[in-house]
Amino acid sequence: MAERPLDLHGRPLGVLRLSLTARCNLACPYCCPDLEDPPDLLTLAERVALVEATVGLGVHTLRLTGGEPLLNRRLEELIAALQPLRRRDPGDPRGALREIALTSNGVLLGAERARQLKAAGLDRITLSLDGTDGASVARMAGLGSPAAGDAVLEKVLAAIRHAREAGFDPARGALKLNAVLTRSGNADQLLPLAALAREQGLELRLIEFMDVGNRNGWEPEQVLPANEMVARIGAAWPLEPVGRAPHGTAGRWRYRDRAADADASGADGGSHLAVVASITAPFCGDCNRLRITADGVAYSCLFAADGTDLKPWLRPDGDAARLEQALRRLWLQRRDRYSEERQMIRPGDGVATPSRPQAEMAYLGG
Ligand code: SAM
Repeated sequence: MAERPLDLHGRPLGVLRLSLTARCNLACPYCCPDLEDPPDLLTLAERVALVEATVGLGVHTLRLTGGEPLLNRRLEELIAALQPLRRRDPGDPRGALREIALTSNGVLLGAERARQLKAAGLDRITLSLDGTDGASVARMAGLGSPAAGDAVLEKVLAAIRHAREAGFDPARGALKLNAVLTRSGNADQLLPLAALAREQGLELRLIEFMDVGNRNGWEPEQVLPANEMVARIGAAWPLEPVGRAPHGTAGRWRYRDRAADADASGADGGSHLAVVASITAPFCGDCNRLRITADGVAYSCLFAADGTDLKPWLRPDGDAARLEQALRRLWLQRRDRYSEERQMIRPGDGVATPSRPQAEMAYLGG
């Protein structure tokens, strides 16, 4: 087995988040996606080479993201091209990919697309939805009218149906729901979103509004802290803590009224709630995630200001060994723990505005 690098805090590499486009078909003000892609997007073959190189360094899980990854017409082709990495023996010295996941707003996830993604070899889908009525969805997605919000909501609800019918089983964690909550945007949607997820049998992942990028107008006052979200939902449906998996992003909770179902069948889905508390309870200590933008710039932290352009190792002709070496060097030098440092700036109230420009969420993909 080739030696797997550890970063300067002793953290291994485990997850690659690969953005396929910076563009999005929604305009969520907390994310601020781009209208245009950067000029120099990676080709499909370059993306496969990148994934293979990171797998050699320890990546076992690939998350495809954006912008909106379903805008990429070659998404299924990419997933299919990565299957040989999945079929490798777990003990293969070159490493093996265990899972391919997708994060999407679901607007373009029709029945046929869901089937194609499943057939190509996608394992899991997380859909994003920030409200259960047209006005809330419109506000959070940057749409002009409640009617436009209603149309998006309808598409996302249909996407949940299509994904389930295509075989993405929420009871096995293969279909989940993401929601970003902000104090003035959609705090009133907390219980309706939890009710929807419970009804649909989906695990809801509540994400604290993060200070990613420079243009989403982030203010500490707008963050709805994870413990407040859990307390409010727990008052309606009592919860018990499950904990955060090693290297995971989310602290998980189990609904007491569904604990028996979950325990008896091992089922997941609507019996659980998850919270991503990147602001109030950072989890940099065991972060194993590397991010690569649609044009091939690697970032070792969601909040990093500087990335490493990998294109010189991919073009004109890729050299797999040199690419892996460049990525290994990058990981060995990694020291980021931005969210923990942010907390230390003001130990009293926990958060402060970042002082230097950071990469935008649309490039990094969450
Ligand atoms: N377009 C896809 C989607 O909507 O899921 C994938 C990309 S999006 C950047 C990935 C996730 O990041 C979404 O769940 C989105 O809500 C979340 N996100 C974006 N900006 C955020 C922010 N400032 N704070 C917290 N989460 C954010």
